[in-house]
Amino acid sequence: MPEGDAVYRTAARLRGALDGQVLTRSEFRVPRHATADLTGRTVLETVSRGKHLLTRVEGGLTVHTHLRMDGSWQVAPAGRSVPGGDRVRLILANRRWQAVGVRLGMVDLLRTADEGKVVGHLGPDLLGDDWDPAEAVRRLSRDPDTTIGEALLDQRNLAGIGTIYRAETLFLRGVWPWRRVGDVGDLEGLVTLAQRLLAANRHHAGTVTTGDRRPAHQTWVYGRAGRPCRRCGTRISRGEMGTGPQERLIMWCGGCQPG
Ligand SMILES: [Zn+2]
Repeated sequence: MPEGDAVYRTAARLRGALDGQVLTRSEFRVPRHATADLTGRTVLETVSRGKHLLTRVEGGLTVHTHLRMDGSWQVAPAGRSVPGGDRVRLILANRRWQAVGVRLGMVDLLRTADEGKVVGHLGPDLLGDDWDPAEAVRRLSRDPDTTIGEALLDQRNLAGIGTIYRAETLFLRGVWPWRRVGDVGDLEGLVTLAQRLLAANRHHAGTVTTGDRRPAHQTWVYGRAGRPCRRCGTRISRGEMGTGPQERLIMWCGGCQPG
């Protein structure tokens, strides 16, 4: 599942292809907006907010997309063949480039003035210019009885963390995923580390939290269930927590993150 850093890179690719260019093709392959047509309008910019993408178009319109589980934006020279079947949800193209939204989890067209309706609930964006760790801590602290593992994935607290960064951040801070938020000693240190991990990976594909880019060396616990902890040798545990169908996965080291 794409996390905040991957969405940040997607926004940069869409900016490179679409910003300042007049749309020559616009196809919304979602029932709700099937008749929408943005051709002839200039794309102003695409920005990311947590895991959401906002593509602003001349005339006060915004295309809101979300990659959810396995969505992607594929950018290619205009005229390239488009994937078949019903996987394509949206095509935006100009004379030089086309952006094809495949398996997007959300596609909305709304007034730019109404963006708050789709992203206004989000907590501070870990990769946003306005990242505010104190505000993230304030939001996390509103519900001290929830588990820290669930609270970090709740995008209303802070926006951009998915299952990989959750597992890696909690490991690096030595925090058991089921600890109550109210019992986590240094929430500011926790969110600041999560921000640093996302920021360190925002310009390249892949998630490296160990500083070692070699395959099979990139993470401390995520994807390593049953293998020895890199620090203490304890076998990495794997479990589920929370409610989202694909967001429950958690891995941790019982030695470094005691319950
Ligand atoms: Zn360990």
